Amino acid sequence: MGKVAVAFAAVAPVCSNSLHPIIAVVCWIALTDCFYFRREKGTYYALHLGGTYFRILRVHLGAQRSYLDVQDVERHPIPSHLMNSTSEVLFNFLAFSLERFIEKEENGSDSQGVKRELAFTFSYPLKHTSISSGVLIKWTKGFEISEMVGKEIAECLQDALDRRGLNMHVAALVNDTVGALSLGYYHDPDTVVAVVFGTGSNACYLERTDAIIKCQGLLTTSGSMVVNMEWGNFWSSHLPRTSYDTDLDAESSNSNDMGFEKMISGMYLGDIVRRVILRMSQESDVFGPTTSVLSEPYVLSTNSVSAMHEDDTPELLEVARILKDLGVPDVPLKVRKLVVKVCDVVTRRAGRLAAAGIAGILKKIGRDGSGGITSGRSRGEIQMQKRTVVAVEGGLYMNYVMFREYMEEALVEILGEEVSQYVVVKAMEDGSSIGSALLVASLQS
Ligand code: ADP
Ligand code: MG
Repeated sequence: MGKVAVAFAAVAPVCSNSLHPIIAVVCWIALTDCFYFRREKGTYYALHLGGTYFRILRVHLGAQRSYLDVQDVERHPIPSHLMNSTSEVLFNFLAFSLERFIEKEENGSDSQGVKRELAFTFSYPLKHTSISSGVLIKWTKGFEISEMVGKEIAECLQDALDRRGLNMHVAALVNDTVGALSLGYYHDPDTVVAVVFGTGSNACYLERTDAIIKCQGLLTTSGSMVVNMEWGNFWSSHLPRTSYDTDLDAESSNSNDMGFEKMISGMYLGDIVRRVILRMSQESDVFGPTTSVLSEPYVLSTNSVSAMHEDDTPELLEVARILKDLGVPDVPLKVRKLVVKVCDVVTRRAGRLAAAGIAGILKKIGRDGSGGITSGRSRGEIQMQKRTVVAVEGGLYMNYVMFREYMEEALVEILGEEVSQYVVVKAMEDGSSIGSALLVASLQS
């Protein structure tokens, strides 16, 4: 697999760099444990707790360099009652789901005594204490199990697995972006950035250790380490915020938090659109009388926004259907067109902000055609532009074509045509889970 060491573990906020606002995001950074990205053949499992879905998968690595077989992938919505239950209920549920998955895929074969190695992909801010342990800093994306904040997450899962008598070892606790970076790197060693646009949003990138203020003096074998930015919490006074953003934030379960995520990710875009339509219906009569459905937070999903935005029927029948579900029946075509325009404006803004975030990272590491803005790197020194791969995953990016197009278009606009030729954005379906399983493989010796 080559020699880039992927390092992460203890996390701490770093980096308030005023040179580029995106980089001034509260940056959570990997500090200690460093490991080589080697290949170890065998079967590995991953469990990914996202914001909407949990995924379980099994991969098999062969002795050959190219042999990676993703054998089974299950994806289920997280039952909503679990999001504000207790740690025990949540982890019992996850352990039960893993048990069912294993029973099904092993299909009665005798695998007693076989220890299964598991990656736990966890897409919430953690303070890592080792490669396989970390405590929850806070919940985001609607989870609200307050007693879990400060708890060792991998230990909770391991205890639940042990209670069920499952012979499974939580070998790594991995942020989803780091998993995606790993898979990206596995396929293409020019991958240095990974971004997730799903229910929430986050990014990580490969940084030179000597350029990380918090890690002065720390040595990794490769000289690099992965910085998990937790960019969903980025904020800047230069980022224009509308009254819809302010209201959404104030009424959310995590107000004054995750401001960037609330402008660009799948959990929130639908609700921004809903708020605009609600205001229009209150201040004009284009939608007829205002309905109570439209006043319900999160009643309009981002999936419905993309369905309306991408409605290609001449009469905008999908728009009409969704508006009817919102208690707004029988609006004329020109009003349906107006709704499509609202979807377009909100999604275009999200795509362009997302692109600005990626461009900010590229600027930080000197892959935007400039010399980079990282301390430890001499400023203004123009480097030869290297091929740079940005691995991207998440349901919003994978499924909402217009979001993806706006993001990619804006990235070219910001970087310029010439530099853009060297920047490849690569979709990584299930990258965070598969990549986490690869990390577990790399830990075996
Ligand atoms: P998770 O965030 O649980 O890891 P995903 O990465 O699959 O899961 O992201 C799921 C989210 O992506 C959904 O909650 C939704 O906001 C968004 N999404 C999925 N499909 C679509 C779609 N067709 N159009 C718009 N948004 C979508
Ligand atoms: Mg995810």
